[in-house]
Amino acid sequence: MPKKETKIKSKTPFEWKTPKGTADILPKEQEARRFFWQVGTAVSELHDFYLLETPLLETEELFAAAFGERFEDVGKTFFTLKDREGEKLALRFSPHIPAMRSYLANHLAYFASPLKVFSWNPVFRAIDPKEGFLREFREWAFEVIGEADPIYDGEIILATYDFLRSLKLKNVKLSITSAGCRVCRPAFKQKLKSYYRPLKDQVCKDCAKAIEENPYALARCEDEKCRAVRADAPIVLDYLCQSCNNHFKSVLELVEDNGIPYVPDPYLLPLNDYSDRTTFEFFVPDYPLPIAAGGRYDYLAEALKARFVPAVGAGVGMERAIEAMKRQGVVPHPKIKPRVFFVVLSEQAKKAALHLMNMLRESGVAVVEVVGKKTLKAQLRTSDKLGIRLALILGQKEVFEGTIIVRDTTTGAQETIVTDRLVEEVKKRLAAK
Ligand SMILES: [Zn+2]
Ligand SMILES: [Zn+2]
Repeated sequence: MPKKETKIKSKTPFEWKTPKGTADILPKEQEARRFFWQVGTAVSELHDFYLLETPLLETEELFAAAFGERFEDVGKTFFTLKDREGEKLALRFSPHIPAMRSYLANHLAYFASPLKVFSWNPVFRAIDPKEGFLREFREWAFEVIGEADPIYDGEIILATYDFLRSLKLKNVKLSITSAGCRVCRPAFKQKLKSYYRPLKDQVCKDCAKAIEENPYALARCEDEKCRAVRADAPIVLDYLCQSCNNHFKSVLELVEDNGIPYVPDPYLLPLNDYSDRTTFEFFVPDYPLPIAAGGRYDYLAEALKARFVPAVGAGVGMERAIEAMKRQGVVPHPKIKPRVFFVVLSEQAKKAALHLMNMLRESGVAVVEVVGKKTLKAQLRTSDKLGIRLALILGQKEVFEGTIIVRDTTTGAQETIVTDRLVEEVKKRLAAK
């Protein structure tokens, strides 16, 4: 029925928009992102993390296995698709589930133990987009896989803190708790259920539903009624087993020893069953949402049908960090300012010009190239606007003779030199300025 197609067309006219919750990242936004990336790379190397890249596509089964009983709810926020054979795939939903899958699949324990990796691929969530919650976003994630020792919780927290500080964010603060383990957690959940059951009518609809299924969810609700009820609820720190207690104490010691400002937040409980013990978030006062978050996920490998592999990780949200930087007036390192202006006078000179520009760039001189059909005079005006005082001019004649024109744009004085001397001459003139 070809008519149908026409009908759809007229109903939903084509628009030049990106899908809901995604965005084009325009050239003017790249400076801050490049800065973020540079800081991330430097901090990752400093803390000895290796880059691990996993695909943007995983099987849906992987995430379903990771979330277990929570899949029914969490699965609604997966972006899924089917390949031609009918296999169900899902877009990268979180950084650490694929990292653990890769660790198991590639026997990465033989590469390093514990394995310390970072990643920064996009993450996808089929959620209703709002400020700070996108459908496609970037997270710079750190993972330490294969160790339960609290020293690694400390290391992850330190690397994350170092990252945020290196972004020049001010007043960075850590919120932290322990969520207990499979030994102590069931008893605490029972306590929560018994506390909330008689108060079912006093909390919001979602919370009322969560009392039996996932009482940890009640701790996170922002509803005023729920917060009022929460004030007298039992807190996790009173129910930790000896082992969790010692673990948490050691983590806090590391936090204190390294001078990281923190507040204990017993309501910071993870909603996933594979997460346990240390759970944390980083904030700055100028931005309402956490900029980074992380914690232990000791039970993830088992959920993926493997042996027990303890692990801890964290992610720094790129979009949120950049927004917080903006609000704090942080200026990312400016791009290296071009110091030489290169004018190519003819299409035929273009190839030779590329070679010369490359030579200059390799020797550390930042060059800006002029393209387009403007007159030489108009081009030199652009150079003036950019504050560049040295122009190189190359036409067909110069290419033929193996020369180039060097022009001081302030005085207008110019000189023709052989290209063999170009790098040396440019450096000399730049040094004199
Ligand atoms: Zn415990
Ligand atoms: Zn609620």
